[in-house]
Amino acid sequence: MLHSLRDKLGLSARVYETGNGVGGTWYWNRYPGARCDTDSYIYCYTFDKQLLQEWEWTERYPEQPEILRYLNHVADRFDLRKDIRFNACVTEASFDEKANRWTILTAEGDVVTAKYFIAAVGCLSSSNLPKFKGLETYKGKHYHTGQWPHGGIDFTAKRVGIIGTGASAVQAIPEIAQQAKHLTVFQRTPNFCVPARNGKIDPAVVNTRKADYDAICERVRNSYFGYELSFIEKSALEASPEERERVFNEMWDQGGFNFWLANYQDMLFNKEANEVCAEFLRRKIRETVKDPVLAEKLIPKTYPYGTKRQPLDTNYFETFNKPNVLLVDVNETPIEEITPKGIRTSDREYECDIIVFATGFDAMTGPLTKINIRGRGGQLLSQKWSDGPHSYLGVAVAGFPNMFTITGPGSPSVLSNMPVSIEQHVEWITGCLEHMRKHGIATMEARADAEMQWTEHVAELANASLLPTANSWYLGANIPGKPRVFMPYLGGVGPYRQKCDDIAAKGYEGFTFAA
Ligand code: NAP
Repeated sequence: MLHSLRDKLGLSARVYETGNGVGGTWYWNRYPGARCDTDSYIYCYTFDKQLLQEWEWTERYPEQPEILRYLNHVADRFDLRKDIRFNACVTEASFDEKANRWTILTAEGDVVTAKYFIAAVGCLSSSNLPKFKGLETYKGKHYHTGQWPHGGIDFTAKRVGIIGTGASAVQAIPEIAQQAKHLTVFQRTPNFCVPARNGKIDPAVVNTRKADYDAICERVRNSYFGYELSFIEKSALEASPEERERVFNEMWDQGGFNFWLANYQDMLFNKEANEVCAEFLRRKIRETVKDPVLAEKLIPKTYPYGTKRQPLDTNYFETFNKPNVLLVDVNETPIEEITPKGIRTSDREYECDIIVFATGFDAMTGPLTKINIRGRGGQLLSQKWSDGPHSYLGVAVAGFPNMFTITGPGSPSVLSNMPVSIEQHVEWITGCLEHMRKHGIATMEARADAEMQWTEHVAELANASLLPTANSWYLGANIPGKPRVFMPYLGGVGPYRQKCDDIAAKGYEGFTFAA
C-alpha cells in the first residue's frame, strides 16, 4: 500500500508500525515451528514481475524467518523504510468533519493529520490472553505464541505447559516436545489436522512455475480461496465409498489445504457429506495415536470438519505417542487457576517451568476496535460494531469517510490466501484514490444502505454453509462476550474481486462523494 500511495500515486504517505521492523504476523509469531500453511510460490507479492522471478523460496511452506527475510527484502528493494515509523503504536484516529481530515495519535506522542486513513492492522494481530485466575502469581515464564521473544526460548530440560490446540499450537507442540523434558498440552477443542508434507522444492518445478507465473497469478486471483485449488464438482454422497476413499487418500498424500479446499463441493454445506470427510480424518487419528483412549480425546466430535481453520501438521498426532507428552482435556478437568508453580485443573496441579499460551487472537475486529477510531459525530468504531462488524465490502465503513480497512471484516480475508486478498484491496483502494483525485473529490464514504445490504449478504452466504455451526474465531466465539457474528466473506476471492471491480466501474456504487 505504501509503495502504491507513494510511487504510483505520488502522495506523501507514512506508515505507523508498533514493531521495530516490518513483517506483521511474521514479525510477531516466532514460536518454534512457525511456518506458512500456503505454498511459498503463491505466498508472495505479485505486483512486481522481477521480484517474483528473483526471489527463491527454499521450501514448500516457508518458515517464519524466511518469510521475514522476504518481507525485509521487499522493504529494502522498494525503499519503504524511510516512510515507516517503527515503534509507534497508533492509539487513536478521529475524523475532523470541518477540515475533512483524520488526526492520528500514537502512544509515543505523534500527532499527525492526513486526508486518508488506511488501516492495515491485520486480522490476527490482537493476541488473546484469557484471564486465568492467578496468572500474576506464577513464578515461571509465560509467553503467547503471537508475541514471541526475538531471541527464542530454550526449552531444554524444562517442564512446559501449553494451552490451546489451534493452528499455532499444532505447529509448536511437536517442536517443543522434542526439546522439553516434559510437555503438558491443555486442550479445549480437538482439531482435524491434515499433514503439511513440507519439503524442498524440486528446482525443475520452480523453473516451470517461474515460466508460468502470469497464468498462475491469473488463476489464483480468480479462484475461490486464492489458491490453485477448486472443489470437486460432485457431492461426496454421489461418489461410491471406494471412489471417496481413493480421492481422500490422494488429497491426504498431497498434503496442504487440498483436503479442505479441493474436497467434494458439498463438504462445507451438507452435514452428511461433511461427516464422511470427517470420518476419514478421525480414522487417520485412530491409526496414528497408539493409546485408543488418548486417540478418542484427540478426535473432534462436536463440530463439522473444515468449519474451524484447517491446521496443517508435521507429526502432531505422532507427538502424543511420546512418553514426555501428556494431554489434559480441560472439558473433563477444567483449568481452575494458574498457581505460582504451574496450572491447576479441577483434579490436580501440573508444575511447569514455562507456560505457552497458544490461545489465539481477538480476530478481525479486535485489531481495529482496540484503536479509538472515531468517525462522524465522534462515533467510536467499537461502539458502531458492538453487535458485530458493519462494513461495505469489508473495506469501508459508513460514517468513517476516507477510511479504508485492508482485509477488513466482510471481505474474503482469512478465508483466502492473505497476500492475494491484500493485493486486491491495495489495488482497489489505489483505484479509489485515483478516482477521487481525478474528480477533485474531498471525501468518499460508504452509504449506510449499501453497508447494511453488504453485511446481510455476508451473513446470508455464511448461513448457507456449515461454518457458523462451529465455535470458531471466525465468529468471535473464542472471546468471551464478543458478538457471535460470522466475519469473513464466503463469496470467494474471484467473485469478490469482480464485485469490487463492477462497483468501481459504476462510479463506486454504494459510496457518496463530497467535493
Ligand atoms: P486459535 O486457532 O484461535 O487457537 C487457540 C486455541 O486456544 C484453541 O485451541 C482454543 O480452544 C484455545 N483456547 C482459547 N482460549 C482458551 C481458554 N480460555 N482455555 C483453554 N483453551 C483456550 O489460535 P491460533 O492457533 O493462534 O491460530 C489462529 C489463526 O492464525 C489460525 O486459525 C490461522 O488462521 C492463523 N495461523 C496461521 C498459521 C499458518 O499459516 N501457518 C499458523 C498459525 C496460525 P477453542 O478451539 O475451544 O476455542
